[in-house]
Amino acid sequence: MPKQVVKQRSRGFICVNAHPVGCARNVENQIAYASERGLGGTNARIRNVLVIGASAGYGLATRIAAGWGMGCRTLGVFLERPPAGRRTATAGYYNCVALHRAAERDGIWARSVNGDAYSDELKDSVVRAVAESMGKLDLVVYSLASPKRTNPRTGKTHSSSLKAIGSSYTGKTIDLAKSAVTTATVRPASRHEIDETVAVMGGEDWLWWIDRLLEGGALGEGARTVAYSYYGPELTWPIYRDGTIGAAKHDLKQTSDLLDERLKKAVGGAAWISVNKAVITQASAAIPVVPLYVSLLFRVMKDKGIHEGCIEQMTRLMTDHLGQANGPALDADRLIRLDDLEMRRDVQRAVADLWPQVSTKSLAALADYTGFKRDFNNLFGFGVDGVDYSEAVETELFWDMR
Ligand code: NAD
Repeated sequence: MPKQVVKQRSRGFICVNAHPVGCARNVENQIAYASERGLGGTNARIRNVLVIGASAGYGLATRIAAGWGMGCRTLGVFLERPPAGRRTATAGYYNCVALHRAAERDGIWARSVNGDAYSDELKDSVVRAVAESMGKLDLVVYSLASPKRTNPRTGKTHSSSLKAIGSSYTGKTIDLAKSAVTTATVRPASRHEIDETVAVMGGEDWLWWIDRLLEGGALGEGARTVAYSYYGPELTWPIYRDGTIGAAKHDLKQTSDLLDERLKKAVGGAAWISVNKAVITQASAAIPVVPLYVSLLFRVMKDKGIHEGCIEQMTRLMTDHLGQANGPALDADRLIRLDDLEMRRDVQRAVADLWPQVSTKSLAALADYTGFKRDFNNLFGFGVDGVDYSEAVETELFWDMR
């Protein structure tokens, strides 16, 4: 396949292609950050790490923070589309190609499995891969975000929805296709829709992963697992914490308590939830209200010099929590709070002051909407500093699965 010039193509606000060089640059930037700010490969406690959902967003950053920040060996699981002829791969696929190339260059051990993490077959293939080439796992990170899940035991496909619970909610948001501040009404979910969302984004699959790894003897003595959640401020609660996604996250939290008991008994291990900061990922941009909140939050946090993206958060998860000999610092609900800076009183007061004032006209002045759009385009490898988008590039890139 000859090289081609890759121009960004969008449907609505969603980008339908990806730029391999831009994606590689993003991965290299994260590697540079983790290499400089991590623990420098001194951690003897965590050596082998499985990251489920490792190709984008928080999972990709976790993998880089573990690999380059702590010298860990990482096995990544994700579901991404490879390139085919003129059709580019998904951004997550190119991220993984770049990660594997960098791992080989830097002498970091990394393997990946591309397939449906919800299936039994994939779980079995991971158990085999761990036995064959890793020994035992010390840490399992669960970072999946998906609109659908097929339950392998029933064969039923569940679909999640982003809705309020109880009564409908009308609030400000950004129409991303028009860059306009509008109001969106989110209808209340039916019982069925709540159950469906919990079936996709709740804790059942995480539980099944850990059970399968335990049965297969893949978890080492003291093995830990962590999954990610979000709380956010009151103005996002109707759609997030108190909505369908919040119900799923509540279920995830209950699963963490169950898994904590189970792992303690089985291998002297532990399970936690890390509550992370709001960032721009393919998953979060789809949630109403969130793009406007995030644009205001970024403005406030950048002005205060405390802005963080995925790699800053995940490096902190490793250095300040998981990489610590006495384990992570937990709040009263047994949660790791990486959203501490986002939730700082002065930050939330500033966002709440801006919220009623922001309109289409004042969006650019009051919010960091430019930063939001840049970060969003960057997810697909577009608008990345230092990349010449007029240059023809190789799009048929693959990695050696081994
Ligand atoms: P993302 O969309 O960037 O990444 C999702 C990952 O899941 C990708 O690696 C994708 O390949 C993988 N995936 C999806 N379906 C899969 C399947 N069937 N099989 C295998 N892999 C599959 O998502 P994200 O925003 O990084 O979210 C990860 C977690 O972090 C979620 O639990 C989310 O709720 C949480 N979180 C996100 C934010 C935020 O602001 N984005 C904040 C706090 C917590």
